[in-house]
Amino acid sequence: MSSGSYKCHSVILHGCCLHGLPPEFNMYKNEPYVMQPRVITFSKNVFLPLTSVCRNRCGYCSFRTPVQDGCIMQPDEVEAILVRGKASGCTEALFTFGEHPEEEIGFSAYLEKTGYDTILDYCEAMCRLAIRYGILPHTNAGILTYDEMKRLRTVNASMGLMLETTARIPAHNGSKGKSPEMRLAMIEDAGKLKIPFTTGLLLGIGDTVADREESLVAIRDVHRKYGHIQEIILQNFCPKDNTPMAAFRVPETQEICETIRMARRILPAEIAIQIAPNLIDASQLIGCGVDDLGGISPVTVDYVNPNHPWPALEDLKKIVGGATLRERLCVYPRFIRMGWYDPGLQPLINRLDQRIRTGSTQP
Ligand code: SF4
Repeated sequence: MSSGSYKCHSVILHGCCLHGLPPEFNMYKNEPYVMQPRVITFSKNVFLPLTSVCRNRCGYCSFRTPVQDGCIMQPDEVEAILVRGKASGCTEALFTFGEHPEEEIGFSAYLEKTGYDTILDYCEAMCRLAIRYGILPHTNAGILTYDEMKRLRTVNASMGLMLETTARIPAHNGSKGKSPEMRLAMIEDAGKLKIPFTTGLLLGIGDTVADREESLVAIRDVHRKYGHIQEIILQNFCPKDNTPMAAFRVPETQEICETIRMARRILPAEIAIQIAPNLIDASQLIGCGVDDLGGISPVTVDYVNPNHPWPALEDLKKIVGGATLRERLCVYPRFIRMGWYDPGLQPLINRLDQRIRTGSTQP
């Protein structure tokens, strides 16, 4: 974003910041954005990519690997990260990994060596381990069935699946799990199961402004039925070397700002808008309507974007400027109040909730 192109700190943000944007943005040009003093939240997490094997072939992905030595994070590695996470006061264990890895030839033989028959058995066991260490699991394992989510709900405080886009785009050729219908159906199932849920859009992967609007409306509509969406991530595409989309155009910060504003217009206020402060200059976007900076890890790297280190926790205060920075759990407060979690998680949720409310550093 060119500096001075809009007034982040003024009370009303005018459409003058739209110069240079594609014509599709004109419909948002004359809408004043009234800025309120507000709180920006984040979660302190550890990132646990249980496997880099995935049945999909997304054009922007550098995370996925073939079935090979090291393609599964071993239980002792998981435990070592949880130990460090506990010592650092992390409250969230983010289990994100490749979708349906068993569909890849040879994977099951590798998995057997961990002592588990399926990746979901393994994930469930590692979630239980995280709970034993006093850290709340949040799993994003790609497409899951209703029954699979029902099972993981017992050991997860919240779950997630990026919608990415409702459009059919070349970036998803060869990725059957990126079918928008399939993803929306899973998000709907999560609502039926009362799972506090995170979803989001991946911006700049060949989606148009109209696609973004359609995607946001689809998320809003499913939320209207179930009320379970706690946050949406508006994540900017970052090209990775040696991927088919390495030379693809990168969305500009100003374009992301306008998408945040569009989301704020379409979505109800209770859905937080999250950006990734390791992928974009978040300080430039706070004034556009951001509520949350997502999971920040003092322990692990962002395995999906390993060349983009998290900001240090001390730097988050500078990023949010005049807003108040507040730590949150991976389950948002209203879902805690409504009891949207398995009873087995209650003691840990209550303990961690109390801890972050009082600002205690006691792990
Ligand atoms: S689903 Fe995720 S891990 Fe699998 S290829 Fe796509 S981006 Fe990579």
